[in-house]
Amino acid sequence: MAKYFGTYGIRGKLDLLTPEFVLRMCAAFGRHVQGGKVILGRDVRTSGKMLRAAAIAGLISSGCEVIDLGVVPSPTVEFEIKKMGAKGGVIITASHNPPEWNALKFVGAEGVGISREKGEWVEELYGAGNVQAAWNRLGEARKYDLAIREHMDEIKKHINSAAIAKRRPLLVLDCGNGTVGNFAPYLFRELGCRVVTLNAQPDGFFPGRHSEPTKDNVADLIACVKALHADMGIAWDGDGDRVIFIDENGGYVWGDKSFALCIKLRMRQGKGVAVTTVATSDVAKEAAEKSGGKMEYVKVGAPYIAEKMLELNAAIGGEEVGGVVWPEISWGKDGLMTAAKIVEEVCASGKPLSAHIASLPAYFNAKGKVDCGSKDKARILAKIREEFAREKKAKAITLDGVRLNLSDGWVIARPSGTENYFRVFAEAKMQKRADELLAKFKKKVEEIVRKV
Ligand code: MG
Repeated sequence: MAKYFGTYGIRGKLDLLTPEFVLRMCAAFGRHVQGGKVILGRDVRTSGKMLRAAAIAGLISSGCEVIDLGVVPSPTVEFEIKKMGAKGGVIITASHNPPEWNALKFVGAEGVGISREKGEWVEELYGAGNVQAAWNRLGEARKYDLAIREHMDEIKKHINSAAIAKRRPLLVLDCGNGTVGNFAPYLFRELGCRVVTLNAQPDGFFPGRHSEPTKDNVADLIACVKALHADMGIAWDGDGDRVIFIDENGGYVWGDKSFALCIKLRMRQGKGVAVTTVATSDVAKEAAEKSGGKMEYVKVGAPYIAEKMLELNAAIGGEEVGGVVWPEISWGKDGLMTAAKIVEEVCASGKPLSAHIASLPAYFNAKGKVDCGSKDKARILAKIREEFAREKKAKAITLDGVRLNLSDGWVIARPSGTENYFRVFAEAKMQKRADELLAKFKKKVEEIVRKV
């Protein structure tokens, strides 16, 4: 079991992410990929410059050629890895976490994130130490300033900008003081939109809003869309892989709905497989199946989505919090491409965003948590599997926690990766049924926790 790696990289505050730790871990990663080209990028956090220097030293020490992109969205690093055919990448970003956090996201060849399981191999090298290359095998580092321009041009190649320019939609972009401030306003202006920005200056203190684009955190954006009678509001998380939308009435569009809309428009171009996690709403599955495609499920975590997509040559992938993978760009969630695709769809169809969302099937959900204290989560999970298997006329999926598909809804119980609780989530076509399912299965989990 990996000690440091989570579902996508190593996240922590500076007591964990010291320069020494980052240097040694990046050296281990450099040895893992056996030298060669490694792309480096970072977000705007105050610790970013310090950790960048440590990461470069570690990568050079293990013989890597570091291409330093500077402050860029995470998807830009994943895009450049694929484009340059690099051996891998390191992204110094804590995504949507508070400003005092940071993280190392390690990315492998093709731009597929290093999962917890693959992270164990890097940790072994970290533990063994002595990964430094000989004096005549050390690597080097150079800056590369064209990444944002190239990523933007690649997105534009896949977007019908004439349809957008014809409508000249008014967009309010809330960059959340994150890395997309250097990217999104320029992209959408070039695509022919009228652009108003909020929090567009990248700032590691995140003075404008919290970097996770939850409904509460984007209240200013919602007010702005209404006041300006804009066509849409768009908000990203700190590193630009996730994006959420506000419709023309100021309505917050949940990530599973925007993902379902992306599946619909993608499958119109060509049917295929969509990949998502077991925690995603059935609205996505239904969108895929109604379009003649198919949905495949994986464990929760961006690297698992990317691995499966590569394996199946999938058409699209994504997760419920507003991250969508577009294989023509990269194998990482790309919040910039996702936003451009949705804007294109609204302009080309001539229908407002709210109408697109209203055309999707309605699902209702209910969420809960069960505290398990310091009890053994693996034992609890095994018991939950046994208990849930007793349920008649239900199909259990045990990729991650236990998901139980019932005739009129589904429920999932999953241990939190970092904290002492189990998440329980239920979904159905009616709110009442979702609440009932949650109450019933939450009680089962509580009883199991009490007995273990
Ligand atoms: Mg993110």
